[in-house]
Amino acid sequence: MKVLKFGGTSVGSVKNMENVKEIINDGEQKIVVLSAMSGTTNSLVAIGDSLKVQNVDQALSAINALHEKYIAVVDELLRDETLNAQVKDYVAERFNFLIDCTYKSFSQIIENEILAQGELLSTFMFNAYLQQEGVNSALLPALDYMKIDENKEPDFPYIEAHISEVLEKAGEAEIYITQGFICLDDTGAVSNLQRGGSDYTATIIGASIKAGEVQIWTDIDGMHNNDPRFVEGTKPISDLSFDEAAELAYFGAKILHPQTVLPVRADGIPVRLKNTMDPEAKGTSITSNHVENGIKAIAAKDNITAIKIKSGRMLQAHGFLKKVFEIFEAYKTSIDMITTSEVAVSLTVDDDTYLEQIVAELENFATIEVDKNQSIVCLVGHSIVDHKETYKLFKILKDVNIRMISYGGSRNNISLLIDTANKITTLQKLNKYLFELVTL
Ligand code: ASP
Ligand code: MG
Repeated sequence: MKVLKFGGTSVGSVKNMENVKEIINDGEQKIVVLSAMSGTTNSLVAIGDSLKVQNVDQALSAINALHEKYIAVVDELLRDETLNAQVKDYVAERFNFLIDCTYKSFSQIIENEILAQGELLSTFMFNAYLQQEGVNSALLPALDYMKIDENKEPDFPYIEAHISEVLEKAGEAEIYITQGFICLDDTGAVSNLQRGGSDYTATIIGASIKAGEVQIWTDIDGMHNNDPRFVEGTKPISDLSFDEAAELAYFGAKILHPQTVLPVRADGIPVRLKNTMDPEAKGTSITSNHVENGIKAIAAKDNITAIKIKSGRMLQAHGFLKKVFEIFEAYKTSIDMITTSEVAVSLTVDDDTYLEQIVAELENFATIEVDKNQSIVCLVGHSIVDHKETYKLFKILKDVNIRMISYGGSRNNISLLIDTANKITTLQKLNKYLFELVTL
């Protein structure tokens, strides 16, 4: 069985939902994971934020506005009177639940329950639409099988056991529709897999049922070899290995939630990124195979802070890094890039919540310099370090001030730290000389 995930835009309008129906209705049995309609989760976050600061009026008016939007979609999507009424009842139930939340005292659990409504709505509506169109579909309630453990990792034994029960209970159907993003936590409370987590839902299901393939359908034609927001003429990458995809997802290639490939990697279940607007296009295939063709992709991540830790005591001493790491660990701040010389360590963090405290502690034994507004530009490709073109990098970037370089941490990645002000020109230059093959 295949698992197909469709994002918010794919279920964001009646026209796009018709499109999705065309794609999935091919006679093959499958599980279809849906996100909330685009914009809904953001609205739900805003409702939660209003309630957090006890602005009940603001929350209520946002709830009403969203409810009206759904009624309009239901009227456009469902011409069948019985189904129309049935879905409107369900929609009313979800919105009454949201209104009830405005009376309760706000908590993390309430916030998560609010966030869960988007996927409950989109799946119920879409399933009714399939029934109207004569497609044999059934709903699989994600909260009956999707669970994370106390470390917020998927609880695979639980999921495997429960998903087969849920499938059995749903009965024989051609298309099973389920909610992305939402799950239960280890205490049984409603939780989620973090923003953008529907991709992750799809691969968790894929791993649990040993699917033949997981497809992630979005509104772009696969993972691109550079950031299309800043560089013209970027191209979809046709093949990536799991390692390469994991590097890219973390470094800001927004198309995939960072953890997405982890569940399926061990079983080698392929993940294909496909475009709803152009279903015939190949998209990007992520598999265990390494297709070697040099630098495949460039991605950048902003809002990086660099910290330089300089100390005479570092010279030939041992345990210095341990002391440094312990401070970051105490403030639960993860370090992304790190380079060392004999007398200094430079490292980067993307979360500077505790920056002041961390710097104060480091200053007890070192001189500290902090640079904000940095970006990591990362180049990804299998065994990138073995490719000739890699050595062109310094020539291409001779006018860019490179603050740090990380090379060799993984064979698939070279990361450069630069000032964010230079990011766009850096991405463009790399594109020109590495991908458009303009000679230097
Ligand atoms: N609806 C959730 C979000 O907007 C999950 C997802 O779309 O993947 O983050
Ligand atoms: Mg998404």
